[in-house]
Amino acid sequence: MTDLTSLTIAEARTGLAGKSFTALELTDAHLSAIEAARVLNAFVLETPDHARRMARQADAKIAKGEGGPLAGIPLGIKDLFATTDVRTTACSRILGNFVPPYESTVTSQLWRDGAVMLGKLNNDEFAMGSSNETSCFGPVVNPWRRDGSDTRLVPGGSSGGSASAVAALLCMGATATDTGGSIRQPAAFTGTVGIKPTYGRCSRWGTVAFASSLDQAGPIARSVRDAAILTRSMAGHDPKDTTSVNRAVPDYEKAIGTSIKGMKIGIPKEYRLDGMPAEIEKLWTEGADWLKAAGAELVEVSLPHTTYALPAYYIVAPAEASSNLARYDGVRYGLRVPGRSIGEMYENTRAEGFGAEVRRRVMIGTYVLSAGYYDAYYLRAQKVRTLIKKDFEDCFAKGVNAILTPATPSAAFGIGEKGADPIEMYLNDIFTVPVNMAGLPGIAVPAGKDVQGLPLGLQLIGRPFDEETLFSLGEVIEQAAGRFTPNKWW
Ligand code: GLN
Repeated sequence: MTDLTSLTIAEARTGLAGKSFTALELTDAHLSAIEAARVLNAFVLETPDHARRMARQADAKIAKGEGGPLAGIPLGIKDLFATTDVRTTACSRILGNFVPPYESTVTSQLWRDGAVMLGKLNNDEFAMGSSNETSCFGPVVNPWRRDGSDTRLVPGGSSGGSASAVAALLCMGATATDTGGSIRQPAAFTGTVGIKPTYGRCSRWGTVAFASSLDQAGPIARSVRDAAILTRSMAGHDPKDTTSVNRAVPDYEKAIGTSIKGMKIGIPKEYRLDGMPAEIEKLWTEGADWLKAAGAELVEVSLPHTTYALPAYYIVAPAEASSNLARYDGVRYGLRVPGRSIGEMYENTRAEGFGAEVRRRVMIGTYVLSAGYYDAYYLRAQKVRTLIKKDFEDCFAKGVNAILTPATPSAAFGIGEKGADPIEMYLNDIFTVPVNMAGLPGIAVPAGKDVQGLPLGLQLIGRPFDEETLFSLGEVIEQAAGRFTPNKWW
């Protein structure tokens, strides 16, 4: 029997239905892989008992012919999703040992469909970061290494645990969230597929809030088809989230393999940055050529406000974060550090409970929302956001079906290599942030390697609620580029 951990979800589904192996065997294979890969620090909590119980239930349902679309598929869950009776921390000290008495809508839909939870995955604290180095559980290690080097690299962030675990074959897929790039950037750094669906496609209920007008859940998977399978389960209307959209969820898997002939693909000239590595440029051209060979038409487009996206994001996101994080006061959740007065208790708890990056965001956010500066910063950033959204709308109005860009400006970097200057870290999301600002869907698909043998990804940006086109196009790139698996060294 082939190693069960190397199967895709689609392959495992066939194997389970055909009784080639049981859900329990599949889960056990992954639990062993997780145990052997602790050096990667991808999981912050392993839940083997939970996993085996769910796998047995899946086996029973499969035997009766009642298995759901994800029956017996072992997944990892980003520690930003609340899981009933299972510790949920957002990888922040301030949540301490918080054990939610409720389940996030997204995860509850995965369990409804029969999936198995292997454990909770590491992420940047409150999903703030691009390298998974701000987690209170320490950094995650990327299973990829540069050719001939044993330097430990970051898996990207904030969904670094999700990306690392999926790439290292520790779970068949993972949940993730994306506020400015946290699904797509780590996917690109690890040779995995990640999709941020349209804002409103997945419920935010039960997901720890970072910047509510930008946050969106989505999967990280090993193939475009698997990403489509997971998105179908995760998406859907939820009355508990007023921003979730009441619109039928299509069977995204049907989009795989459909013709892209005649589709118009935009190449935005503003994404051609000065000083961009030649290999990124080459990857982009190659991706465009693959789509062209499959019958798409490539057109140059302009998104003139692109340069303002990152600065505007770093006003809007911290503003919303400062408001969302006000609830962590030492009274309701986790950590409490005593003081002589209630005010001092708040201060002590927040000073000790939040890491440096989170404190920076809270301070920036509070500043840009303060009475004297609100108009100059927050209001202005919101106006810029509208212009960014309009750029995309103009482009789609001209008949463009999707936009092709690089996913990141570089391949994965070393742990500790960036971060002295926060701006350097923020620049990682230069290609992904505009998509969140506009609320659009975006997928990152591995497309090649850099000179040092590290994976690189391309991004496709779609029209609102047209994830299907992204899956169709993404699969064309996947077919041309092949799949990416790191050499096992751990
Ligand atoms: N890296 C970006 C930030 O730190 C985006 C993070 C995310 O998408 N959650 O804000």
